Amino acid sequence: MIVGACGHKAVLVITRTVEGTSTSVARKRVELSCGLPENHPGKHRDEVHGEEWEKKRGGTGTRDSDRPTILRHEDET
Ligand SMILES: [Zn+2]
Repeated sequence: MIVGACGHKAVLVITRTVEGTSTSVARKRVELSCGLPENHPGKHRDEVHGEEWEKKRGGTGTRDSDRPTILRHEDET
């Protein structure tokens, strides 16, 4: 983690529908880390993965229990 960076973390979970059903399964789990400067305004952003997520009230985002989970649905075409 870069010194002076926000460093908030989130988990991106990519889900996929099981063929022939309406069930979604997690196929990929990506750890995100905000690379913006400390105390930045607006959403957290992971430049590496190109993902943004909302700030969560309370918590530092550095503990597992504070990490928001972002669900992204992807279907194979
Ligand atoms: Zn941030």
